[in-house]
Amino acid sequence: MVHVNENFCKLPGSYLFSEIGRRVARFSGEHPEAELIRLGIGDVTRPLVPAVVEAMERAAAEMGTPEGFHGYGPEQGYDFLRQAIARHDYQARGVAVEAGEIFVSDGAKSDCGNMGDIFSLDNVVAVCDPVYPVYVDSNAMAGRAGEYDPASGKWSRLVYLPCVKENGFVPAIPEGRADMVYLCFPNNPTGAMATRAQLKAWVDWANANGSVLLYDSAYEAFISQSELPHSIFEIEGARTCAIEFRSFSKTAGFTGTRCAYTVVPKELVRDGVSLNSLWNRRQTTKFNGVPYVVQRGAQAVYTPAGQEQVRQTIAYYQRNAQVIREGLARVGLEVYGGVNAPYIWVATPQGMGSWDFFDLLLRQAHVVTTPGAGFGPSGEGYIRVTAFGRAEQAAQAVERIQSVLG
Ligand code: PLP
Repeated sequence: MVHVNENFCKLPGSYLFSEIGRRVARFSGEHPEAELIRLGIGDVTRPLVPAVVEAMERAAAEMGTPEGFHGYGPEQGYDFLRQAIARHDYQARGVAVEAGEIFVSDGAKSDCGNMGDIFSLDNVVAVCDPVYPVYVDSNAMAGRAGEYDPASGKWSRLVYLPCVKENGFVPAIPEGRADMVYLCFPNNPTGAMATRAQLKAWVDWANANGSVLLYDSAYEAFISQSELPHSIFEIEGARTCAIEFRSFSKTAGFTGTRCAYTVVPKELVRDGVSLNSLWNRRQTTKFNGVPYVVQRGAQAVYTPAGQEQVRQTIAYYQRNAQVIREGLARVGLEVYGGVNAPYIWVATPQGMGSWDFFDLLLRQAHVVTTPGAGFGPSGEGYIRVTAFGRAEQAAQAVERIQSVLG
């Protein structure tokens, strides 16, 4: 008889967004007249920019011709896209990343979730708390997380790095062992960003300990303060200890189009083995590449027109973030993030629980947010608000919250 992977059975039942969905559906059932504003799930709302659409139309037309048809492409991505990424996202910023270190994929979610394939199960994994749940759940599925304790909301074998207001939501380096460390900056959910000095300390520690930093910079396009690093590879020493995940999802509205990439430097070696070669082996075995049409669309992001157009989209969301941040601060809420990230991390008033504040905003302001507790124990006492909505909705949501709390 077949046996299932028991690690899946250890995962806690309700995923954050399904519980939110249930509560919203119940409220909408009771109050069908209520017009909800959804500032919860981190999906984008602005359409693809014209440069991307035109490039995909051209590529789709090519696919309909005998000369322009493309079947299976290279698993690592077409050279035209890998070269464009290397040039624009790295070399133009003085960062030495070459095309052969870039693996194009269908999403940073897949890459973050799959990266564990190339690491031994006996590694100790450290995650930020609160955290993007994919890092935790994918390690739990692999059997690297131990047992889940519902009382604490923690897995027995994971090392949790608290990200709290006292440390500016940037985790301290652990005193004990940690082999694989997931860092995410700009951060989902707190909206925090790490400085060069903070990242340098992590890089030096990782090199000294033989650890690997799994650096998720899916929100890199939202960094607005010029002194902040956009890539871990801007930090000296990172090429021997870090892997970086990036995505076109939030940069260029590709959440439904699906294109991302992961950088595995050739100098990154553990147990005498190149991690670039291992990831290449993993991808060529289990992944068959991103559609040609989509990769042509992603390439168009790097044209002068594409750059200008995506900059405008990001600026639109950044204005929303400012409206939300300033509007909520005006009613006396403690707000964080929203400057270098599309997320605003809001402390609940008077020590309310995350889910209670979520329910209050849902029921009284008809605004859907995300309870911080859903991202980990240290997220209790916060909600996450996203800037990805439409501008008029962001403004209206702020007004409604102000009238409920004011
Ligand atoms: N990484 C972080 C931190 C995210 O918040 C998200 C999506 O919300 C992703 C990765 C997923 O990106 P993609 O759409 O490329 O799978």
